[in-house]
Amino acid sequence: MATFDIRIIGDPVLKQVTRPITDIDGKLAQLATDMLDTMYAVPGIGLAAPQVGIQKRLFVYDLHDTPGVLINPEIVESDGEWTYSEGCLSIPGLYFEITRPDAVLVRGRDLDGNEIELEVDELWGRLMQHELDHLDGTLMVEHLSDPQRKAAKKRLRELMLDRTSGPTAVIRADGSVEVD
Ligand SMILES: [Zn+2]
Repeated sequence: MATFDIRIIGDPVLKQVTRPITDIDGKLAQLATDMLDTMYAVPGIGLAAPQVGIQKRLFVYDLHDTPGVLINPEIVESDGEWTYSEGCLSIPGLYFEITRPDAVLVRGRDLDGNEIELEVDELWGRLMQHELDHLDGTLMVEHLSDPQRKAAKKRLRELMLDRTSGPTAVIRADGSVEVD
């Protein structure tokens, strides 16, 4: 089993837009397997290639024991609104209440090169939007309200400088903080 180090906020690779994948081959399948192993080791429910320092347009996920890989994904349609306390393996220890579209239709390819479409909402929909953001160099902190940003500033700076994460905290949209 091969696993990667997960890149933490402040690492420039997390801000770069990924390149579309042109070759779906055995090497890519191995990368996806290693990314899933890395994700399970943490554990997490989604991991995008830039989070392990790889500038390719794919992410892996496993929600409710359904693992998957999406290659060159795009959001085709989105609908509704849903507020949820979102976390990220690249921002350990911090959860932010963020409102995004609820339901999304995502199109991409699987490891056989077949086109797949997923119509998902709530946690599934959030997972897809979050991971897709990573492929465009966007972290969830770019979706924060001003009070959230203020409340998290010190912790985010510490994470960027020395990867230290304090106790787990949920930061609500109004900037109030609940520490575990
Ligand atoms: Zn993330």
